[in-house]
Amino acid sequence: MRYLSTRGHADRKQFCEILLEGLAPDGGLYLPESYPQIDALALTRLREVWHGQGYAYLAFEVLSLYIDDIPRDDLLALCRKTYTPEVFGTNEIVPLKPLQASGQVQPEMFLEALSNGPTLAFKDMAMQLLGNLFEYELARRGETLNILGATSGDTGSAAEYAMRGKKGVRVFMTSPHGRMSPFQQAQMFSLLDENIHNIAVDGVFDDCQDMVKAVSNDLDFKRQYKIGTVNSINWARLLAQVVYYFAGYFQATTRNDQQVSFTVPSGNFGNVCAGHVARMMGLPIQRLVVATNENDVLDEFFRTGLYRVRGTADTHETSSPSMDISKASNFERFVFDLLDRDALTTQRIFGPGLSQRGFFDLSKDPRFAKAATVYGFDSGRSTHSDRLKTIQSVFAQYGTMIDTHTADGVKVAREHLDPNVPMIVLETALPIKFAATIVEALGQEPERPAQFEGIELLPKRVQLMAADVALIKAYIRQHCQ
Ligand SMILES: *Cc1c(COP(=O)(O)O)cnc(C)c1O
Repeated sequence: MRYLSTRGHADRKQFCEILLEGLAPDGGLYLPESYPQIDALALTRLREVWHGQGYAYLAFEVLSLYIDDIPRDDLLALCRKTYTPEVFGTNEIVPLKPLQASGQVQPEMFLEALSNGPTLAFKDMAMQLLGNLFEYELARRGETLNILGATSGDTGSAAEYAMRGKKGVRVFMTSPHGRMSPFQQAQMFSLLDENIHNIAVDGVFDDCQDMVKAVSNDLDFKRQYKIGTVNSINWARLLAQVVYYFAGYFQATTRNDQQVSFTVPSGNFGNVCAGHVARMMGLPIQRLVVATNENDVLDEFFRTGLYRVRGTADTHETSSPSMDISKASNFERFVFDLLDRDALTTQRIFGPGLSQRGFFDLSKDPRFAKAATVYGFDSGRSTHSDRLKTIQSVFAQYGTMIDTHTADGVKVAREHLDPNVPMIVLETALPIKFAATIVEALGQEPERPAQFEGIELLPKRVQLMAADVALIKAYIRQHCQ
């Protein structure tokens, strides 16, 4: 399998070459040259693997369709090391939970539990694998890597828990000082591993992002200090996420002629893009419903064909902060497919022009209609009050507590139900991560998994810093000796 750039660069690369890279040299995102096809026979075989051997083996089977430069035994060992009940809490790794009231014949829908990893958000599903892949590949090359990132919460902690103690890797993670939930701060700042560096920046998330970009744009510095990233445009992360669409499908169905739909709380379009890949491979998915919060860049696009990047001032701070985005960094992958892989147009609409113009408009392009008709996409949005009501009603009807992001998904899923097609909502975080809103909705504290008891009281290690590129460069220099 070779990978190409969405903006038409001539290079074709192998998986391990793009594993440690961010963007393609032309600023595009990597995608496989083609999607491996799962026919009925292969789907039956994967279903047997799921039932007989479980998630790690299913992951191996799916990943090996895309990775041919890691020996099969090694890849299987990496999957088995990653997806264990010890790390993810259950044998199923991603159990499906019916939302079904007593006396009801059929579940209203299912939640797919993706949030039982070390940081209680779905990002662990991919990041834990990435940590093991990075360690493996760096050792094979005899190299080291310094991961520099910006986080508003979930990505940073998932990256740190995936990379802690890993050989050959350091993490420098910036976050906006005082803006993460107390639980998130405690999760990250209580990591005392020597290779983990938390940097609390005096500013907002965009200031963190700008610092990271400025460092990455200094090519000499980047090369000298081997700066890399783990952001959601990394193809390996997206690929790891494809697996749980298969696992969800196998749990909700018994036969291959059955379809399911997924609703996905979305921000940077990484999670739902993995669903798009699974569907392109032939997994029987009817609809992929993109759920956004008040930051509805994506919902607006799927309704109208207009993609409008939001400025800092128009980006809302919401009670589902992991979806508070101004533009969706993975979206280019889907648009490239939507445009029949027309790299020239992709380059034109996503290239440097986008940040100047601030929008592109496909409403008059005949290909736009295919987003719904051919690719199965649909969308919706929620407000803070919608999420509160949904948290309340799901708790009252089913006795299940859901977090604010998952509530966004359930709210939008309810607007897209089809009695003949099971709807699976991806549970992207556990309620304890966003306790304040749960208390606002339900008047009670969410349950806290035992391993997080008292986490706020642990000693913390964090460096405060002004939003200044020179300072973070100096910090990296100092800690790379
Ligand atoms: C990251 C995140 C999302 C958004 O996922 P994308 O892949 O960026 O679309 C949704 N919910 C939670 C809890 C997250 O951490």
